[in-house]
Amino acid sequence: MVPQVPQVPVDPVRDRWQAAMRLALDEARRAVRGGDVPVGAVVLSPDGTTVLATGHNEREATGDPTAHAEILAIRRAAARLGEWRLNGCTLVVTLEPCTMCAGAIVQSRIDRVVYGARDEKAGAAGSLWDVIRDRRLNHRPEVVEGVLAADCARLLTDFFRDR
Ligand SMILES: [Zn+2]
Repeated sequence: MVPQVPQVPVDPVRDRWQAAMRLALDEARRAVRGGDVPVGAVVLSPDGTTVLATGHNEREATGDPTAHAEILAIRRAAARLGEWRLNGCTLVVTLEPCTMCAGAIVQSRIDRVVYGARDEKAGAAGSLWDVIRDRRLNHRPEVVEGVLAADCARLLTDFFRDR
């Protein structure tokens, strides 16, 4: 008898971002060395082929309450482009952005946010709030959620279990 292999449904929108999410996961693992919660982010160029910047959570490492992965990656991408507008760019992050990061995403004019795990307690991209797609704002990036969600969530649960 052939054992049953569970079929994971293929989602062409979600699966397109897996390679970039793996880079964000690598980045998230770097946070742990500084004692920080493992969250990682990358900013991709408008054509999606170039990583403009990366960032991981550095609150503990730097003592900066705003040093979330997304904020650091957005700042570095803007510095690299020499321009605060990141039109056309995609932010890929392992955890659903908080309100601060959602605000920064809207301010930066990033056009797409791809995230892994949902943050039911503090997420601002569909869970607790939806700041990113708030119809009252005139810049509303596309949101793709659930990319490698299990891997992203496992990194967090392992981190908190080990504490
Ligand atoms: Zn944040």
